[in-house]
Amino acid sequence: MVKINTLEFENTLEFAKKADFEDPLKNFRDMFYFPYLNGREAIYFTGNSLGLQPKTAQDAVLNEMEDWANYGVEGHFHARNPWFSYHELLTATSARIVGALPSEVVVMNQLSVNLHLLMVSFYRPTAQRFKIICEAKAFPSDQYAIESQVKFHGFDPQQAIIEIAPRKNEFCISHQDIYDAINLHKEELALVLIGGVNYFTGQVFDMETITRKAHAVGAFVGFDLAHAAGNIDLKLHAWEVDFACWCSYKYLNSGPGGVAGAFVHEKHHKSNLPQFAGWWGHNKSTRFKMEKSFDPITSAERWQLSNAPVLSMASHKAALEIFEEAGMEHLIQKSKKLKAYGEFIIDAVNQQLGKEKGWLEIITPRTNDEKDYYGSGCQISIVAHGYGKKLFEDLVKHSVIADWREPNVIRIAAVPLYNSYEDVYEFGKILLKIMS
Ligand SMILES: *Cc1c(COP(=O)(O)O)cnc(C)c1O
Repeated sequence: MVKINTLEFENTLEFAKKADFEDPLKNFRDMFYFPYLNGREAIYFTGNSLGLQPKTAQDAVLNEMEDWANYGVEGHFHARNPWFSYHELLTATSARIVGALPSEVVVMNQLSVNLHLLMVSFYRPTAQRFKIICEAKAFPSDQYAIESQVKFHGFDPQQAIIEIAPRKNEFCISHQDIYDAINLHKEELALVLIGGVNYFTGQVFDMETITRKAHAVGAFVGFDLAHAAGNIDLKLHAWEVDFACWCSYKYLNSGPGGVAGAFVHEKHHKSNLPQFAGWWGHNKSTRFKMEKSFDPITSAERWQLSNAPVLSMASHKAALEIFEEAGMEHLIQKSKKLKAYGEFIIDAVNQQLGKEKGWLEIITPRTNDEKDYYGSGCQISIVAHGYGKKLFEDLVKHSVIADWREPNVIRIAAVPLYNSYEDVYEFGKILLKIMS
């Protein structure tokens, strides 16, 4: 693990400006539109919820509208980017972002849909093996997906779903508790399905070890990477994860409700796993013969159902081109430093306030922590002890767009593509002013 040297940090505007000036990714900020809020450009810390719009996205969408106007149905083969194979334009970069072979990735549908489609193949409960291990308080859509799959197969969610909760008075989940549960239920375990990064706490899970331990007892492993894709270092292929899926509108900046991604490990491409099928998963060379009997593509595309939603893919493509230019490894380097600076600034605010006046408790594992630490996303979740929603409302008045979770948690994400050290410094100044 690379330690960030926090000794060099200073709680001054000069320091923040200097860090921005020296930032090799500083020019990327200008590639995005920032919303205005209460008369000034917002301090935008919700890239973990909806990423900002790349300035290239509108033209990308308009180009497809133009081609549609100019070519009609002929656009499937004659558009500048033929629609027939449009999704393929998104594969290489998506694969690099999640650490996969291109054949293991397909961009399709939306996240919850993909979760279901992949569970159809990878959750095949039997009387003997029917249990699923997941995080307690997983994102609601994931909870509903898991519970409805269990019921769909005629099992009782109470018995089949094993939720791993944080220990008493803790926020993050102990890895040991996940491993212990895998062992405890090893005879009955069908699937481990958790988020790669917990949406609430920002905790990053050790996906490699979880995968190894689950495989050792004969279970499949899937990850929901909604908060991981474009945020942390992923090596899905090398870790031998069975499947994963993610949305593209959070860290990947593809726009509201944008098209999602899915990963299926190469070892399953030619398997006889059952699946739900559609024509876009069928052998490309014979697809338009429109004949009976499904002949699956031997890649992740096998799980595609429908033809490419080109308009939503166009803005995704524009956003992915920016990732390609920036490079995940550079983004991750900056992300760690920016997050460590955020921790430093929040600690400084606590000090300046004196604990008795209130307290901001960071519940996300710290960037330089050794314990239970498996990489860092850019999100920091903060419990504001003694403050209610008024704190959040006051932040809005000061043009900060953060995210509030009842009863007292603020989530902020300083996203390395477009946030600056100055954003983080300003945030601290505003916090201090509000809370003093
Ligand atoms: C954002 C998010 C979702 C949203 O699902 P959609 O199908 O894209 O609406 C689901 N799960 C997790 C963990 C998320 O963070």
